[in-house]
Amino acid sequence: MIPAREGLQRLQEGNARFVSDVRSRNALTSRIQRNELTAGQEPFAIILGCSDSRVPVETVFDQGFGDLFVIRVAGNIVASSQIGSVEFAAARFRTPLVVILGHSRCGAVSATLEELMQPTDSHSQGMRSIVDRIRPSVTELLTTELRHDPESLVEQAVRANVRASANHLRYGSAVLEQLIQKDGLLVVGAEYSLETGVVDFCDGVPDAV
Ligand SMILES: [Zn+2]
Repeated sequence: MIPAREGLQRLQEGNARFVSDVRSRNALTSRIQRNELTAGQEPFAIILGCSDSRVPVETVFDQGFGDLFVIRVAGNIVASSQIGSVEFAAARFRTPLVVILGHSRCGAVSATLEELMQPTDSHSQGMRSIVDRIRPSVTELLTTELRHDPESLVEQAVRANVRASANHLRYGSAVLEQLIQKDGLLVVGAEYSLETGVVDFCDGVPDAV
């Protein structure tokens, strides 16, 4: 298995290829590779990203079959089924790296901010469960001057939501906590820019990387 720091570097290099339009994706999705993977998988990173159609995870990291164990949910929230999916991959495949991947202009984060500023009863129970997960990490921002600056507010809220999700994974699961302490499982937060295509690893990255 590729160590966490090396995996992180691989993601950064893949994203750099994506940004500069030099992709290796075709090679990675060949029939040979698909056939090899029928026997088992060893994904080097677990990515919890947003369902937003503009952030296809394998594409923005220029990775292919068998490389990434991907969980996608609106607002990259961490609820019990997401924790379970991360635990499954980390324990079963010994994948040592987990990335929470938020993105600029996230609709789920914006919807949460709108709901906080002007509460409505229009959300379904299912949608409310997403807004309620994001709410605690962004509420405090509305007590600052940012509330007068909608664009910066969403920017900061996206970051706060990424940090909260990463912390939830670090401290919200006994299984993951043990893997972090004993096996060096690394949980980092990152943000994808819709504007530039760049992924900024902004939370929990070890100094030497
Ligand atoms: Zn989103």
